[in-house]
Amino acid sequence: MINLIFRVLRCLNKSSIYKIFYLQLVTILIALLSVLSAILIAPFIILLSGESLSINNPFFQKVFNLVAVFNNDDLFLHISIIFVSFYVLSILFTLVFTYLNLKWIQDINVFFKNNLYLFYMNKNWLYHSNISSKGIISKIESDTNRLGNSVILPFLNLASNFLISLIIISAIFLVDFNVALISIVTFSLFYLFFYYFFKKKLRKAGDTVTKVYPYYLKSMFEGFSSIKDVILFDKKSYFTNFFSQNVNSLKNSQITQSYLPQIPRSLIEIIFFTLLIGFTFVLVKFYDFKFAEIGAMMGFYGICALKVIPALQKIFNSFASINSNISAFINIENDLINAKKISLKKEINTSSQKIKFQKIIKLNDITFTYPNNKKAGVFNVNMTIPCGSKIGIVGKTGSGKSTLLDLILGFIAADKGEIKVDEVIINNNNIKYWQKNLSYVPQNFFIYEGTIKSNIGFGLDESLIENSKIHNSLLLAELNEFIDNENLEVGENGKKLSGGQKQRVGIARALYKNSEVLILDEATSALDTITERNILRNLENNKNVKTTIIVSHRFETLKMCDKIYFIQNGKVEELKNFEELISKYK
Ligand code: ATP
Ligand code: MG
Repeated sequence: MINLIFRVLRCLNKSSIYKIFYLQLVTILIALLSVLSAILIAPFIILLSGESLSINNPFFQKVFNLVAVFNNDDLFLHISIIFVSFYVLSILFTLVFTYLNLKWIQDINVFFKNNLYLFYMNKNWLYHSNISSKGIISKIESDTNRLGNSVILPFLNLASNFLISLIIISAIFLVDFNVALISIVTFSLFYLFFYYFFKKKLRKAGDTVTKVYPYYLKSMFEGFSSIKDVILFDKKSYFTNFFSQNVNSLKNSQITQSYLPQIPRSLIEIIFFTLLIGFTFVLVKFYDFKFAEIGAMMGFYGICALKVIPALQKIFNSFASINSNISAFINIENDLINAKKISLKKEINTSSQKIKFQKIIKLNDITFTYPNNKKAGVFNVNMTIPCGSKIGIVGKTGSGKSTLLDLILGFIAADKGEIKVDEVIINNNNIKYWQKNLSYVPQNFFIYEGTIKSNIGFGLDESLIENSKIHNSLLLAELNEFIDNENLEVGENGKKLSGGQKQRVGIARALYKNSEVLILDEATSALDTITERNILRNLENNKNVKTTIIVSHRFETLKMCDKIYFIQNGKVEELKNFEELISKYK
């Protein structure tokens, strides 16, 4: 458990750790106030019954002697006021403590969420191509909440309630050693029994939640995004069954997580009352105690119990909660530690730096294979792309065209060989300065929910998007139908647009960036030949775009290129002329 606490602390920032520490001081104050009010109930009850302040208990006798020093006519009133004040104060402090606890835990949750989001945003394309986005969403959304609310908060509850119990039980030790010993042994054995009895079940329930949550997200995302197929293939029942299986599995685990820890609470009350009555019986029957004395002792133990039993229950609940949600922490632990390192590094302002491209891009003997599929990739590629040229890339599906573009774009790094821009070798450190020169329309273009305008001015605040540039991009991408209608909502993933319109929005977005190199990966495949030709002609006339790299299967498009590279099984060769392409494609 101690080891686990240190592991969790490693993921937090310093200010959160300090806050947590200070919070424990408030707890000590609450515990002391509770003890004082519990002790003062004894003289209060004795005075209430009209007896004199004396009792057959050395500790309370001392307290009474102390109280008697202030003896005056209004002693009863004064004790009442002090008793109530302590009690009220302890409750007020508890309220403040609970609020701060909850607030700071939410701050921690936000800290985790922001860090993880930034961490995954910083990951390269290869990482994302290997990982499920539902897994990421589940980590950012569910696992961070479980870590904050069901691991860290319980840790705090554990610490504070342990302190409260310790202080109150110490007070009971002062009053009566035997009673304190019996209570401690009984309660500890009781809770330990339940903890070990439930441990495995809670752990299993927690593991199930961690495992099932991404599938639960998957059933929603994939079911609704493939709704046309679902209707046509008549697979509604398949998706609804998959969804309800996951929901039920989550439900069962969550019931286990919430219900099991509650069981001991009801039983502990039975034990406490049996002990209390038994204790009273023994005192009256065998020790000949007076009613006022028993009342005073019962009042003290009653108030102690009122504080200690919930505290013990919270300690137990905390152990149970930590145990059943630890899998969420383990699932994100490494990412959180690495994310913290990233968030500490300040982003250097690089807005003005850019690699100059005036002559030539050279790919020298580039080889790249996918880590999980060593047969796929590109091998010993040599290419030259002069500034101002139009380069065509052609080849069978799966031959490596997009992979080649990903290398030029710096989404993946070559295993062997180098890419040189003029005289600069592109590497991990300068890649972002190279990318400033590049605009790209991918094969599977992603449109986000919003307006045409916001999709073209990608990632910019609405107020920063320049209308004249939007207008120009629309013209170049042959999106005349949206001129003066730039605020049209395109729907989720561009559902309200046609396939060709989506591609043209993609081209307009790339053109809005105003880069010198434009890379099109089958970006005009859904367009009719006339529109495609018009767009390419617009680009030729556009002075900003100097160099274009086009992946296409259309001879019409390739004919307009200055150079054509043919790619087969990841190997690239430059074609001498257009006739060679026709013969290759046969
Ligand atoms: P298409 O014309 O169908 O778009 P392409 O020529 O663009 O095909 P690539 O996407 O470059 O082909 O893929 C080349 C090979 O690399 C394929 O065999 C593909 O399965 C494999 N591949 C692509 N992406 C990955 C990845 N992230 N991990 C592993 N293998 C991959
Ligand atoms: Mg491709």
